[in-house]
Amino acid sequence: MSASFSSAPRLQGVRSALRTAIGRPQEGVASANRVLVVDDDPQVLSLLDKVIRRMGFEARMVNSLDAIDEAAASGAGLMLLDLHVGGDHALSLIRQLSLAGITIPIVLMSGYGARMLNTVRDACVEQNCTVAGILSKPFEMSALESILAHFRWRKAAPQMGCLREAIGQGEVVPFYQPVVDMRTGKVAGAEALVRWMHPEHGVMLPSDIIPEAEVQGLMPLLTYRVIDQALRDWGTLSNRDEGFDISVNVTADMVIRPEFVSKVTGLLAQHSVPARRLTLEITESLSALQVPQICTALCRLRSAGINLALDDFGTGYSSLVALRDLPFNRIKLDRSFVTHAESRPGERMIMASVTRLARDFGLDSVAEGIETRGCYDLVREFGMDYGQGYLMAEPVPRDVFRSRALLQG
Ligand code: C2E
Ligand code: MG
Ligand code: MG
Repeated sequence: MSASFSSAPRLQGVRSALRTAIGRPQEGVASANRVLVVDDDPQVLSLLDKVIRRMGFEARMVNSLDAIDEAAASGAGLMLLDLHVGGDHALSLIRQLSLAGITIPIVLMSGYGARMLNTVRDACVEQNCTVAGILSKPFEMSALESILAHFRWRKAAPQMGCLREAIGQGEVVPFYQPVVDMRTGKVAGAEALVRWMHPEHGVMLPSDIIPEAEVQGLMPLLTYRVIDQALRDWGTLSNRDEGFDISVNVTADMVIRPEFVSKVTGLLAQHSVPARRLTLEITESLSALQVPQICTALCRLRSAGINLALDDFGTGYSSLVALRDLPFNRIKLDRSFVTHAESRPGERMIMASVTRLARDFGLDSVAEGIETRGCYDLVREFGMDYGQGYLMAEPVPRDVFRSRALLQG
């Protein structure tokens, strides 16, 4: 039988059970190491159980919202929750948790696609529920592993609490890495890469910032902040050189948000940057389920004249599907195929094939992760259009980028 969470006495039971099961962090009841999984698919439960235990967490499996009572005594620091368990919708549980003042980070799972998950995530954030991640089924276990790894790390990193304020106060800024035209050897543009200039911990990297922004529902705030600043900086990075391109990374989840296209075109107009000078790099490996939604958004962006790059090409299982079905006009070969290409024949073959593939599709090609002169020469010989890497420059603050550009005339 499924639970409705509508009757007061039952809710009372759930509240007290959950308080015990999940605990309030401030009361120190919950075990940060215990993960509660709520899903009605036995195969999913069994698979998740294995992965969670392999990662060194304790796992507690529950197959209905009713059964959460029974799992109560266990205590948990994180809950993996399917959106539809039996006949129930997870939002009713989340609402009750919120009313009961019970805080537990939740990872939302669903087979109904990323749009549905994003909508529920927004609703959760409105109810002060922390969403530690979303998993659109079928998902790769590595996606769950990275959520769990971040969750463990976060327990030991209390400084992340103030990310929202840090964004508001301008501590979260883009650094810039030059993108070089391989034909001329000249800087053709820059990629904006987010950094947090933390007053105590120094410069913090995207690998720390992005998962945390996702947990706290701050990705829209962070993304629009980086795009706004990058477009504001465009004129000074390039001395308003009309040929200078600026690239910004965005996740697929951001691109399918209803306001995304108009927000970006509005920022372009506000900063008087021609749309053809902006490239959006899609960073997440795209799930097949997202493709129809993302296709609509990408077509609108391309129609507005904005360039679209498929980032980290070669790493996502759906790279070729994305190339075939989506209106990208640039591919960035992942640095794992570039950095050691000089000494690894397999990587050279991949570089050659990807260059040809890009040309056949009529796309620009970019090689990331050029660290040596030999690698640079190889990328040029293969005929890739653009290159990026520590050999030319690491990502630097705006003023450093600008002064180097001035030095180069
Ligand atoms: P990405 O977009 O593929 O960016 C390239 C990453 O490779 C950057 O790491 C850059 O510093 C690093 N890199 C560049 N050249 C070399 C090289 O020669 N050797 C090596 N080993 N690394 C090199 P970073 O800045 O840590 O960014 C990591 C990822 O975080 C980015 O990968 C991108 O996916 C994501 N990211 C960065 N900024 C943002 C942002 O504003 N929004 C979103 N959504 N994601 C971002
Ligand atoms: Mg990128
Ligand atoms: Mg990349």
